[in-house]
Amino acid sequence: MKRNDPSPGCLRDLGEFGFIEHVKRRFGGPARPGEVGIGDDGAVLRSPPGKVVLSTDLLVEGTHFDLRYFLPQELGWRALMANLSDLAAMGASPVCYLVALAAPPDTPLPFLDGVFRGMSSAARLSGIRLVGGDTCRGEKIVLSLTVMGKVASRRVVRRTGARPGDLLFVTGEPGWSRLGLRLLAGGRPRDPKGWRREAMRRHLCPVARWREGTLAARCGAVSAMIDLSDGLLPDLSHLLERGGMGAVLDERAFRISARFRKAASELREDPVAAFLAGGEDYELLMSVRPQRYEAFRRAARRFPAGAFPIGVVTKGAGVRLRRADGSWTEGAGLPAGFRHFAAGGGRAS
Ligand code: ADP
Ligand code: MG
Repeated sequence: MKRNDPSPGCLRDLGEFGFIEHVKRRFGGPARPGEVGIGDDGAVLRSPPGKVVLSTDLLVEGTHFDLRYFLPQELGWRALMANLSDLAAMGASPVCYLVALAAPPDTPLPFLDGVFRGMSSAARLSGIRLVGGDTCRGEKIVLSLTVMGKVASRRVVRRTGARPGDLLFVTGEPGWSRLGLRLLAGGRPRDPKGWRREAMRRHLCPVARWREGTLAARCGAVSAMIDLSDGLLPDLSHLLERGGMGAVLDERAFRISARFRKAASELREDPVAAFLAGGEDYELLMSVRPQRYEAFRRAARRFPAGAFPIGVVTKGAGVRLRRADGSWTEGAGLPAGFRHFAAGGGRAS
């Protein structure tokens, strides 16, 4: 996206208020009786029953995203999905969001429109409403989203509830986003098909697992939950570290599809390393009480992305991985690829 082109439609031409009016008209959440959306000093909502969950995220151009890879719609989509993923990981369902935006005055309106369209499509999918925000000029694009969700009082799921013996499950197939990033690093394919299309979509337009998150919370069997932003292994350690616990993972249980393996092999990535240590998939990792497994299984049948076992929580710290050939890997002995991955590097956000 060239920001310096002198085309007529840029932020400066509309001005801050013109732009807010435009956002309100095109993207503002539907006003419900007794509520106030965009246009006043603050948004007013009816308080939902139960508890409110709030989360915010800051995206800075050059630090968290690169406009060479992302179309504006994808940037907006991904920004809202990342926030929805945080709500999902608490077991909360989406209610409303606010958007704070800084942008240079010469930012083309089609670009900003694209970002809002992306957020708006993600919002439509989840039923969340845009109720306010803030707009100002800045030297580069900074996008900060705040989301609000609701959850029944006793259904909040935190990162800290896991106990030894709990079963570990992950939604979907983590690692795709990493494969997508690898693919894009070699240049954005024009008309991708098959695994290329899948990998690109998973990186650029991930879908947050709020349905899975709320169903998981409601079934009462999930003791802890976290969304995968750093990668399965690093996020697993966040789930375990407070209690000084560890885990045994079983490679043979991992759901790694033929298409995923093909993508990994074409991109010269180790599929198991991508699965365990890729990042930004926004899948959910959850621990499940074994005695409530039946309730979990019933709930998981309704997860659009499914839930797949990866291992169990153990008393002793550290993660041990049983490889497909029966050998064991652990700690510093985990293949170098895992640690290399875990260190990240070159991520788009
Ligand atoms: P204030 O001066 O109180 O900050 P503003 O003039 O910035 O008010 O905002 C006017 C209204 O427009 C408010 O309801 C605010 O929430 C909304 N708004 C401003 N910027 C955005 C934005 N980027 N996205 C959505 N709503 C916005
Ligand atoms: Mg303001």
